[in-house]
Amino acid sequence: MKIIMLGAPGAGKGTQAQMIADKYKVPHISTGDIFRANIKNGTELGMEAKKYMDQGLLVPDELTVKILLDRVAKEDCKDGYVLDGFPRTIPQAEVLDKALAERGESIDYAVDVDVPDENIVKRMSGRRACLSCGATFHLEHVPPKEEGICDRCGKELVLRDDDKEETVLNRLKVYHDQTQPLIQFYKNKGVMQAVDGTKSMQEVFDAIVAILEK
Ligand code: AMP
Repeated sequence: MKIIMLGAPGAGKGTQAQMIADKYKVPHISTGDIFRANIKNGTELGMEAKKYMDQGLLVPDELTVKILLDRVAKEDCKDGYVLDGFPRTIPQAEVLDKALAERGESIDYAVDVDVPDENIVKRMSGRRACLSCGATFHLEHVPPKEEGICDRCGKELVLRDDDKEETVLNRLKVYHDQTQPLIQFYKNKGVMQAVDGTKSMQEVFDAIVAILEK
């Protein structure tokens, strides 16, 4: 089962992607997480990606596509995966499509987690992330057990640079300009589905499972 999660930054697609990956025992692949891991490890790719991420811009397709195609070629992806944050542009979707087609494969579902911009800005300012293990929390919706401390690894939680308001507004603009056209792209392929992302985490998840098991 190959699933693509679409939706604005902060729509909750990362959380849903992880829940789907856990339920169906397939890898959750987030290009954002891959970039952040590279930044943390000080790699050349990380340094290059950071320049764009800190401004809420997309990392160029040439860099992004390569890491994604390498990742989905790994053994653990043979029964499928959930892509979170990829593709984000039509050219990325086309490259993925072509690479899959060469193996006689295709995307089974593209799921749009739909949330209006106003809600997104409110949500993002409450987000807190652990830069050490990658876990994310929300002051209102998923608070850590101890304020400012990661439940998973005990390190400090921070407001990521790319979750700051100015960056969020930039990211929303980039989303509407460059990523939203993918909804039509996957509609044309007959795999597009949408869920109301303003509902609770569990309700959104149930709606996605209902789609996948229809
Ligand atoms: P995310 O964690 O998915 O919100 O991604 C964080 C940031 O990483 C984005 O704002 C982009 O700068 C970069 N990024 C992640 N995935 C992609 C992608 N598929 N194409 C370009 N940039 C990406």
